[in-house]
Amino acid sequence: MNTDKLSVRLQTVAKYVPKESRLADIGSDHAYLPSYLVKNGQISFGIAGEVAKGPFQSAEKNVQAEGLTGRISVRMGDGLEVIQPGEVDCITIAGMGGSLIASILESGNEKLGSVKRLVLQPNINAIAIRSWLVEHNWELIAEEIIEEDNKIYEILVAEKGDPLKPYRDIRFETGLLVGPFLLHRKEEAFNKKWSLEKKNWNRIYKQLESAAPSAETEEKKQELLQKITLIEGVLVNEDSQWT
Ligand code: SAM
Repeated sequence: MNTDKLSVRLQTVAKYVPKESRLADIGSDHAYLPSYLVKNGQISFGIAGEVAKGPFQSAEKNVQAEGLTGRISVRMGDGLEVIQPGEVDCITIAGMGGSLIASILESGNEKLGSVKRLVLQPNINAIAIRSWLVEHNWELIAEEIIEEDNKIYEILVAEKGDPLKPYRDIRFETGLLVGPFLLHRKEEAFNKKWSLEKKNWNRIYKQLESAAPSAETEEKKQELLQKITLIEGVLVNEDSQWT
């Protein structure tokens, strides 16, 4: 991967950045995403935010090497603290856990006033993001699920609006867990992801059955059972090739 050729995962994130956005890419690492977008004329200004020194330095180095210093501002800091209120209208956060992405949005909530679109790519735990979006009046407007190098990724796109709209015709808990748009489409990567998750939950459940009984174990078992039942309802015609 480089600034000319993104991974399919980051290409999918890039696809949802509106043309001419003023973008902040938080946790930018090498700054590949904003560099690619500027070089392709999709945006004219970007901020690459990084909390860690090594990735910050590699972002600076890449942006300089590409001659993009005037158009991409590389800033070191935690989450949204690198942006000024009103400075950007689109934020991308990719390649982290869903809980971390949600906590970055929560801590920087006061910076989101001017932001029209969020494009978020959690590696795990997308439910933490969907829950945060619902609680903060962001409406999920699109979702993608892709498989690359044997890993499955979800991409969530949100704009301010009616946070419950995508969940109206489905069971809310199911939509939060698996994604309302993804649930309707049930693509191959979706079926594979949830078949494998279910297999994993069953394995943990069996382990708990042979553990010493305690209130905590019982609670964990009940939680798993609920999730397994919910996913079984989603994977009605489950394909055994994944399990
Ligand atoms: N966004 C790139 C991608 O998707 O390929 C890089 C993903 S990399 C796995 C995650 C990056 O997020 C790391 O470089 C890490 O230092 C950065 N990061 C983690 N927490 C952060 C935070 N609170 N604020 C800014 N950057 C953060």
